Amino acid sequence: MERSTVVMARRLYELQQTELGVQRHQQALKDVRARLQDTGERDKARAQADATRRDYEKLRADLRDTELAGQQLAQHVKEIEQRLYSGRNTNPKELVSLQEDLKMVQRQRGESETRALELMTQAEAAENAATRAQGLARQAEASWEEQRQQLLKEQSVVEEELRLLQQQETSALATFQGQELALYQSLKKVRGGVAVAKVERGICRVCGIAVPSHDAQRARSNPGLVRCNSCGRILYVA
Ligand SMILES: [Zn+2]
Repeated sequence: MERSTVVMARRLYELQQTELGVQRHQQALKDVRARLQDTGERDKARAQADATRRDYEKLRADLRDTELAGQQLAQHVKEIEQRLYSGRNTNPKELVSLQEDLKMVQRQRGESETRALELMTQAEAAENAATRAQGLARQAEASWEEQRQQLLKEQSVVEEELRLLQQQETSALATFQGQELALYQSLKKVRGGVAVAKVERGICRVCGIAVPSHDAQRARSNPGLVRCNSCGRILYVA
């Protein structure tokens, strides 16, 4: 009889440890899955690389447009000069007007060249920034991939451990009699998931209150389960 009481308390205690293990593993699995979803760092780096690439391409396009406009202005200058200096045009009014046109178009051409130089400098800086951002995005991608492989490994380990614990839990549950299990389950509900308390050095390890020695004695030898005076949990004297 003495043996069966201690054995019952111990088996309930082991069931409890298994169930706590199941909970811990379920939580760990949830965490790992959440981390597998969290691609924030990688996405940020990639978005940054895409944005700097677009900036660079925009500047290149502006530069092409500006250079094209510059060529047209140069052509225009040439045409006006031909008309001015061909000697065919002798009307002074028209010559003055052509000279004014020439000045205006030359000024526009100068402005266009200045703008093209500015754009060239900006495009060069933007290209460097885009190359840098691209490198960072590749690094982020690689480090995420490494992390992902690690997490997948972790996930499969936790899944396997959880599967074994759940098997243990199921087969343990099947070996209990209705009464003990009912007490265990109801205590679990009202005592924060912990129904069985280990007694060590005469103290209930869950509530921390000393267990009277006659209770500890009963927990070893009584035919039924003995409960903590203070917290009401089933006592298990190892
Ligand atoms: Zn207690």
